Amino acid sequence: MHTIPTSLQGLRMEIGKGSVSIELSGMATVAAPMLLSILLIGAVYANPENSQARKSFKGYQVLSVRAENEMQIEYLNLLQQGPEIDFFQIPSLVQRTDILVPPTKLKEIKKSLRKMRMPYEVINQDIETTIERERQQIRGKAANDIWTNYLMWENFELWLQERSQSYSNMIQLKSIGKSREGKDIWQVKVAANANDAKKPAMYVECLAHAREWITGSVCLGSIDILTTNYGKSGSLGDQATLMLNKFDWYFIPMMNPDGYNFTKVNRLWRKNRKSNVVSSCPGVDLNRNFAADWGGAGSSSNWCSDTYRGDSANSEPEAQAVIAAVAEAGDVRSYLSIHSYSQLLLVPHAYAAIKAPDYNELKNVGDIAMLALRQVNGVNFQVGHGPEILYAASGGAFDYFKLNGVKYCYVYELRPSSGSGTDGFILPASQIDPSIRETFASFFSFADQIPA
Ligand SMILES: [Zn+2]
Repeated sequence: MHTIPTSLQGLRMEIGKGSVSIELSGMATVAAPMLLSILLIGAVYANPENSQARKSFKGYQVLSVRAENEMQIEYLNLLQQGPEIDFFQIPSLVQRTDILVPPTKLKEIKKSLRKMRMPYEVINQDIETTIERERQQIRGKAANDIWTNYLMWENFELWLQERSQSYSNMIQLKSIGKSREGKDIWQVKVAANANDAKKPAMYVECLAHAREWITGSVCLGSIDILTTNYGKSGSLGDQATLMLNKFDWYFIPMMNPDGYNFTKVNRLWRKNRKSNVVSSCPGVDLNRNFAADWGGAGSSSNWCSDTYRGDSANSEPEAQAVIAAVAEAGDVRSYLSIHSYSQLLLVPHAYAAIKAPDYNELKNVGDIAMLALRQVNGVNFQVGHGPEILYAASGGAFDYFKLNGVKYCYVYELRPSSGSGTDGFILPASQIDPSIRETFASFFSFADQIPA
């Protein structure tokens, strides 16, 4: 366990451009790459309380609804256009849709739902209470333990730096570009031996959507399992060894660092932090920004919408960085886009009611991977075509890579299932460990099934 030495308390550090600039209270600023190694040995994990006023969700309720006809879908789509109502899922005829309603709108929305003959269930009476409980949990746990705690942006970066130092024979940590606000977008390449020739690549992308914290944990946990178990005995050892003997694994554990950092202020922030023409409505939905039927169904041209697709296809630096990185990796066999929540595995394409030419093959491989996932904790993930089991969504990263020659492309929607309870994006930290283990089991299954 790393604890903060009292002499270093009040220390503020910024990691960027490969060096660390450190300010100690009452002392001169030291720009010192050298100090990086010192810090990484007795790593200093900050307790990042922020000074910016936090958005309160007091009195906000989560209503779970089920649309049963096209008119009800139309109504929900209309509702989604407004900035006040936050949709946790895209309106669909086959899945429940959970919507977050501010206290000022509750009466009106409930009344109109009744008018539309759409039964609703209040699954969270006050989401601020849930957010506050999570804050307490995070404070009470080690700020660097990826298995029991969510790491905030600073600690997340620090963990990556530390891990790449201690496993320099297996990990290449690389900044593949800068976010809108100039933060690094990190890529972690895990290989059996960093000096080996390139193997076919498997890509795993996490935290494109800022509030989906569990996805970042799954990326970090998978890096942890691969590095600590490669070449060892036991079932995780066998799995890690096969995975790394067959493929190089590339993780983009935090595709949207600006948005993720902003979730300290607004826990339910989804987009990046681009300034839009309407300054009160910043952000682009990175998973609607890619050139895969960009501008089509399930995305919005409205800056204030949570599914705002951006000014043009691939306009966002975060999307551009990932596209360039995947191109550089060369022979990429799989692109797994990790999201939450709904317990689904989506098979391309999501952007329209057309299936990829090899859909049936991809569906079979996905079914087997989700069987492996279920065997760990009994959690069930539905596998299928986005527009059938969810709804069409254009501009997604996985569709972009599918269209550009990567064969095995999938979207995960992790725990919990929609309409199932109060947690949603605010998944209790006690579910980090089981989520990592079950998702990793499915990564192994993909590695096992996909030819090298
Ligand atoms: Zn998402």
